[in-house]
Amino acid sequence: MNDRDPNCLFCKIVSGQIPSTRVHETDTLLAFKDIHPQAPFHCLVIPKIHRATLNDFAQADEQLIGSMLLTAKRIAADASLPGYRVAMNVGREGGQVVFHVHLHVLGGRPLAGALG
Ligand code: AMP
Ligand code: ZN
Repeated sequence: MNDRDPNCLFCKIVSGQIPSTRVHETDTLLAFKDIHPQAPFHCLVIPKIHRATLNDFAQADEQLIGSMLLTAKRIAADASLPGYRVAMNVGREGGQVVFHVHLHVLGGRPLAGALG
């Protein structure tokens, strides 16, 4: 599977071709601010390799998936969020618009108990 898709918006963010406000970066992951925040704190955590959806992850990506969640925890701690939500939309029916795997990390206001 290709590590980059030249037509992918988030691959272009990884390469710097499209600007973003980076909040955390490692060799394998990038976290940046969502351009249309749904909460006072709204960041996205993405793998640097291109995977369209969670369904494209395999057993070999287990560590990467774990790192994505730990990065969510870390950026929430860095922002001193007392609570936050981590969400992933999978597929068009699941509300996914950008087809490069990403976690949403939302906080900075009380979030309703149910997902809307
Ligand atoms: P999803 O519906 O889960 O695919 O979410 C895609 C997210 O990407 C949305 O919350 C958008 O606001 C966000 N987004 C789209 N373009 C950009 C961009 N250039 N920089 C940062 N976030 C973006
Ligand atoms: Zn991509």
